Amino acid sequence: MNTRTTHINLDESLIFEKSAQGRIGFDLPSSEDFPEIKLDEVVGEDNIREEISDFPEVSEVDVVRHFTRLSNWNYHIDGGPYPLGSCTMKYNPKVNEYIANLQGLSTTHPLTPENFVQGNLEALYLLSENLKEITGMDAVSLQPPAGASGELTGVLILRSFLEDKGEHRRKILIPDSAHGTNPASAAIAGYSVETLISDEHGCLNLNALEKEMDDDVAALMLTNPNTLGIFEPNIEKISQVVHDRGGLVYMDGANLNALMGIARPGDFGVDLLHMNLHKTFSTPHGGGGPGSGPVAVKDFLEPYLPTPKIKKLLSKKFVFDYDCPKAIGKIKAFHGNFGTLIRALAYILANGSDGLKRASCTAILNANYIRHHLKDTYNLPYQRPVLHEVVFSSKNQAKNGVSVMDIAKRLMDYGFHPPTVAFPLIVQGALMIEPTETESRQELDLFIKAMKAISIEAQNDPDLLMDAPHLTRIKRLDEVRAARNPILRWKGTKNRVK
Ligand SMILES: *Cc1c(COP(=O)(O)O)cnc(C)c1O
Repeated sequence: MNTRTTHINLDESLIFEKSAQGRIGFDLPSSEDFPEIKLDEVVGEDNIREEISDFPEVSEVDVVRHFTRLSNWNYHIDGGPYPLGSCTMKYNPKVNEYIANLQGLSTTHPLTPENFVQGNLEALYLLSENLKEITGMDAVSLQPPAGASGELTGVLILRSFLEDKGEHRRKILIPDSAHGTNPASAAIAGYSVETLISDEHGCLNLNALEKEMDDDVAALMLTNPNTLGIFEPNIEKISQVVHDRGGLVYMDGANLNALMGIARPGDFGVDLLHMNLHKTFSTPHGGGGPGSGPVAVKDFLEPYLPTPKIKKLLSKKFVFDYDCPKAIGKIKAFHGNFGTLIRALAYILANGSDGLKRASCTAILNANYIRHHLKDTYNLPYQRPVLHEVVFSSKNQAKNGVSVMDIAKRLMDYGFHPPTVAFPLIVQGALMIEPTETESRQELDLFIKAMKAISIEAQNDPDLLMDAPHLTRIKRLDEVRAARNPILRWKGTKNRVK
């Protein structure tokens, strides 16, 4: 926190607006040393932008301090835990950044001929092989740049497969606990969505599935472990019911953090899935930065994967294969988000199979540690043992008029990023906590202490929560206004120092 702004009440705009006329942050030789350039001839008159003449005029130190200050005002995984359920905000080892930034990896143009980038292609190939092994599937496309994009890719693949067989099925079944992207992806791919109501344990209701599963259903989209952190105990039976009626089982594998080295979707009946490398396989993704949502499929769906595919020839040479007549086409420019793919490969190789399994086991242990210590304070709507995340509700605290949002906001005063709230939708006042394996027991104990303290505050002084946060730089936001009238672009010059 910036001490200069906490002790004296400085005008915010003076802290933010640093521009002063004539101040510069560069040093170039005098223009007299160069021939005169007619800008309109070089870039074309249409491309000359008048409005940027109004850009801030700042020195180097102004710029460095401005952005360093902003980064300090932000919450980040390098500063503290980020227990956002379903997001797997684990600490990302810095060595991955170093590797992804190695010159041959970070500066290669994606159109460089295959012969000159054999190492880069081998890295992609190796990552695909590892993801196949981890998921128990037969083929992988690394193209989709996010989880939702992987879902759309997967649904387009299964649609192509079914239509190839002359089956024009129109429905996709999705449990009510699913991530919102699932129904969106199914709808974008042209399907109508039927919702399956979860049973009293928060799991898929087999009877409901058997009733809904008919010859018009193309697929079941299932998250496992589901968004309550619970592994579907009947997964094999579920797959069988779907397969018996000619449908496919799509798994939303965005959160593989509970499964690595323990269970493989390919072994429990899943036909295709996507995974989020920017969650389980360590890429910084808090600011909406680049992601990666590879799709893994069983053999019979391989012909439909996006082009180009990376192939290893008998000569050990790696090539791109564009000759894929049944492929759904391209999903993303070039070969996906290469830097994210490299980070994932670095993470997998550094951990090895033992390390990945240990990561999953520790993630599960950490979630259950929190579950155990908070279950007498916060309501547990579902009693089943959990895997990598645990969902509480704010039911106990709501008696005093405190909402789940108030609890989340107050947690910021204790120095923690709040967990996911109000999701999954089947839990009223949901608090979805995913500690991940990278938090130590000491850190978990602090979090538990803070959550317990907040519950006591909710009883004794509910207003304290309703006005929270009190200690952050920005106090409680008007979230409706922030969503309806977002200010996404700097446009202030009115406070310039003249
Ligand atoms: C994060 C997540 C997604 C969406 O992934 P994006 O990369 O944000 O598109 C889908 N399903 C589940 C279960 C998720 O947790």
